[in-house]
Amino acid sequence: MPEFPRVHENGFVGQVDNAQVPRFAGPSTFAQLPRLDEVGSADLAVVGIPFDAGVSYRSGARFGPAHIRGASKLLRPYNPAVDLSPFATMQVADAGDLVANPFSLEEAITGIERGARELKERADRMLVLGGDHTVALPLLRALKSDDQIAVIHFDAHLDTWDTYFGAAYTHGTPFRRASEEGLIDTSACVHVGTRGPLYGARDLVDDRELGFAMVPATEIDALGTAGVAERILARVGDRPAYISIDIDVLDPAFAPGTGTPEAGGMTSRELLAILRQLSGLNIVGADIVEVSPAYDHAEITGIAASHTAYELISAMSPRTDTRSDA
Ligand code: MN
Ligand code: MN
Repeated sequence: MPEFPRVHENGFVGQVDNAQVPRFAGPSTFAQLPRLDEVGSADLAVVGIPFDAGVSYRSGARFGPAHIRGASKLLRPYNPAVDLSPFATMQVADAGDLVANPFSLEEAITGIERGARELKERADRMLVLGGDHTVALPLLRALKSDDQIAVIHFDAHLDTWDTYFGAAYTHGTPFRRASEEGLIDTSACVHVGTRGPLYGARDLVDDRELGFAMVPATEIDALGTAGVAERILARVGDRPAYISIDIDVLDPAFAPGTGTPEAGGMTSRELLAILRQLSGLNIVGADIVEVSPAYDHAEITGIAASHTAYELISAMSPRTDTRSDA
């Protein structure tokens, strides 16, 4: 095993050297990376939001961040699929968890937005480990700049419903609220992997009228991952992009540990392949949400989520000459 020093020549602090400390030991940060307070600031911060008061079915996603971090211990420094050592091309650090009030959705949403704004002072970009999908709304509020954001939304569900039991803020409504608030440019947004029974055809019409496009799960076989990526790239163009990944976009075979599973989803291989083709986008932030470890088996969902995080970090890495030989 080659030595992979923790501090790279360019000064970036990477993972613990697993020639010295075995992977199952060492820190419980994401991928055994340094904590943000150890490096002061970062190009990319991985941050957890243990929050699941917005779910409509199975709860438990509040334990998602710890589960994904646990499974991420196995992530190695070099990504052969894209010939890149992501933690040597920029400073990536674990910012811990944002605090969200577990008893008040309103206060949780305000607190998450405040926490994300504070984090922005110390990290150029963030990758969020949820938590349920409610968290996407305050994150988009915090990331909004002059340009509206294009959301690439991987999910079995639309998450553009209006209300549920009279509640406007749930894990099924973040992108409806974000479009109403003018945070996102729906003409550049796309849902990917949508499937499963709905309450009626009206759900799809409403979503289309809000301006979203969709690549449903039923089209993925015919398009292939290259065709799906092509649709996404054409839709987003050069707008600032936010990638939101509800782990239930994967088939329950690849992600049983989630709150609202639907049969007939994509494989983890397909999801990772699509993400690898999005590296040319201006990705301003990303999340992986709805990992609910109590329903997981043999860490299947945690492994899928941690590898998804690794591909997102790779896609957000600067592509310079600090690749495999860094
Ligand atoms: Mn979903
Ligand atoms: Mn969702």
